[in-house]
Amino acid sequence: MNILVTGGAGYIGSHAVRKLLEAGHLVVVLDNLSYGHRDAVPNEIPFYKVDLKETDRIEEILRKHNIEAVMHFAALISVGESVQKPLLYYRNNTAGAMSLLEAMERVGVKRFVFSSTAATYGEPEETPIFETTKQLPINPYGRSKWFVEQILRDIAVSDSEFGFVAFRYFNVAGADGSIGEDHQPETHLIPLVLFAVMGKRDKITVFGTDYPTPDGTCIRDYVHVNDLVTAHVLGIEALSNGDARFYNLGIGRGYSVREILDAAKNVTGQEIPTVLGSRREGDPARLFANSDKVQKELGWQPQHTNIEEVIASAWHWHTTHPNGYQEPETSSLPK
Ligand code: UDP
Repeated sequence: MNILVTGGAGYIGSHAVRKLLEAGHLVVVLDNLSYGHRDAVPNEIPFYKVDLKETDRIEEILRKHNIEAVMHFAALISVGESVQKPLLYYRNNTAGAMSLLEAMERVGVKRFVFSSTAATYGEPEETPIFETTKQLPINPYGRSKWFVEQILRDIAVSDSEFGFVAFRYFNVAGADGSIGEDHQPETHLIPLVLFAVMGKRDKITVFGTDYPTPDGTCIRDYVHVNDLVTAHVLGIEALSNGDARFYNLGIGRGYSVREILDAAKNVTGQEIPTVLGSRREGDPARLFANSDKVQKELGWQPQHTNIEEVIASAWHWHTTHPNGYQEPETSSLPK
């Protein structure tokens, strides 16, 4: 299939590009490089530095490469920033997706894979979280993605040839050798823990030790990025007319912050400089998926269910790329 990957220079998008190429698909990447890294995309595949709002240019690209399906990763991802700048999030994530979908409509591209998020569930009323669990996002980031889910449902109703799959991600982690996570600034637990070991940060702060969980810290479901993108390949290959599919992507097991720290200590063989801090606003105590649906319907089977293995792959990436994709002399990683 000829597939356009938006956000293909980002963390998850770059892993998806690699997986799609391995599966024999023709891949074209679109990314505005606001957060993505050109070096994360292989030189031999067509790359366009284009923003999602450029509907006409996207239309041209879709036509030029006879694109049959779109995998849409390009989005802003910071919950805290979304609270400060809601319009930025609705503009990029919601209006951006609409612009892309309009270009697809003009050309007649009928297959769409969407990066959604467990943040669409908000504070879930049950764990594990099923696809049928009530969605009540509690911040603009979650709502910006939730709106796109609703738009996709409406398009599928209006056009019987359209088919989409929306994956609701839990906590994505790990790396695949020469590509990995390089967010500026970084806010995610696993890379920050590893930065503390590497001396790129003084310490890691545990956000809250008084949650109603066995060890008092928050529990999350960490899915390896390669398992996550494998589901996308299965999804895009399975899509047919009229499909409106929603799947949780998590391994169905949660790890607490303390368990992550213990696992990182085992992987790195080093003590993690840690301080116990107060809760971070908006953090639910426990989030983990029931992923039976994607396993049953797409035959997805996560391969990296051992958290130490996930952390080891991230550790390998960070130690071999201590400045991410930047040249060492220009690195300015925030503390
Ligand atoms: N966390 C923490 N210290 C940090 C960063 C994160 O204790 O410096 C906790 C956070 O409160 C959450 C878990 O680690 O319970 C995972 O956070 P992350 O930001 O990686 O992902 P999120 O669950 O917010 O999507």
